[in-house]
Amino acid sequence: MALQQPFPDLDEIITSIGAGGDRVAAIDASEGAAGNISVCVGWPMEVRRRFPIIEEIQLPQPAPHLADHIVIVTGSGRRLREIQVDPAANLGVVRISSDGTAGTLHTAPTRLSERVTSEWNSHIAVHDDTVERTGTNFHAIVHAQPPRLTYLSHIPEYADEAYLNRRLLRWEPETIVNLPAGIGFLPFMLPGSAALMTANVVSLRTHRIVLWAKHGVMARSSISVKRAVDRIEYAETGASYEYMDLLNGGRAEGLTVDELRAVVAAFDVDTTLV
Ligand SMILES: [Zn+2]
Repeated sequence: MALQQPFPDLDEIITSIGAGGDRVAAIDASEGAAGNISVCVGWPMEVRRRFPIIEEIQLPQPAPHLADHIVIVTGSGRRLREIQVDPAANLGVVRISSDGTAGTLHTAPTRLSERVTSEWNSHIAVHDDTVERTGTNFHAIVHAQPPRLTYLSHIPEYADEAYLNRRLLRWEPETIVNLPAGIGFLPFMLPGSAALMTANVVSLRTHRIVLWAKHGVMARSSISVKRAVDRIEYAETGASYEYMDLLNGGRAEGLTVDELRAVVAAFDVDTTLV
């Protein structure tokens, strides 16, 4: 999977990050400065006109497959809902060196943050792994903190990937169509830690979205920021129904296994979940 020419330009990509941030805020998944977004681009792009301040940085870990790539990323402590108001002030652009160990951080004179997101290590690791595995020239990652998914991750029964997916995929036919591999699940790990980074990479190899217990989610897409945000919405909507049903004493039937199998057959969904 790779984008074809004509490629989106820098303005279109930063506009899409702003729109994605706005949508994540609209579903209450980014209180305060929670959440972060990055887009990795494999084609050449002029960024100095919008982001003229230049600073050399070390990457948190080598990213050999991102050599000469560009990563547009939210600044540390910035609010996702404010990106679209002033993208240049809230974003930075990192041009990765040709050995994949360092980068040049480009920022705007109006920047509101001097560093990139605190989850930078997870973003870089997932971009690097996906580019290596799939050869994509475009990859978007969104971290958000949707409250119902996160709440369910605090309930021990749901801290089991098979159970979690059985419960969340049973509410709407389109959930399994859009999340054919379901939702990955990781036990609680410290935000920004090497352990979370490593486990996250492994889970996002087979899933398009992963739930970090007691924290939030990370979703990815090789097509658009919007598509990654959609995945968060589909998963959070499943969690909303599940939460409603818990409050209502579990009275709903939900889609049966036979009904889900009929959806999978009708829409030719490549899944092993039902
Ligand atoms: Zn977070």
